Amino acid sequence: MANCIFCKIRDGIIVKEFTYEDKDVMVFPDIHPIKPVHLLIIPKKHIKDLLEMKDEKLMFKLTKIIQKMIKKERLENKGYRVAINGGGAQAVNHLHLHLLGPLGKVAEM
Ligand code: AMP
Ligand code: ZN
Repeated sequence: MANCIFCKIRDGIIVKEFTYEDKDVMVFPDIHPIKPVHLLIIPKKHIKDLLEMKDEKLMFKLTKIIQKMIKKERLENKGYRVAINGGGAQAVNHLHLHLLGPLGKVAEM
């Protein structure tokens, strides 16, 4: 995707140090962190949003990488959130998951 910032990062047009990378997935810190840990976990393939995600193997792989990042950042017992913005709430139209922490307890429901 020509004008997609995450595709440009994937292709090295915008240089970025990755926290984690393999052939399908890249992880790097959000440029405007809203928590001490704020990582973006991103499939390299340009998938527009969650509704376009149809690859169950890739989805499971993303889950495994999130687990790895939670442990790497030592957030297991410190509170974390995994968020996907969509439906117009997102700024970047290339699927990505935010991993945020540490966090306190969310209000009891
Ligand atoms: P969203 O609102 O879910 O689309 O979030 C997109 C996120 O990408 C925002 O939190 C931005 O701060 C982040 N972002 C945009 N450009 C970059 C960049 N070049 N490097 C790292 N994070 C970025
Ligand atoms: Zn893209």
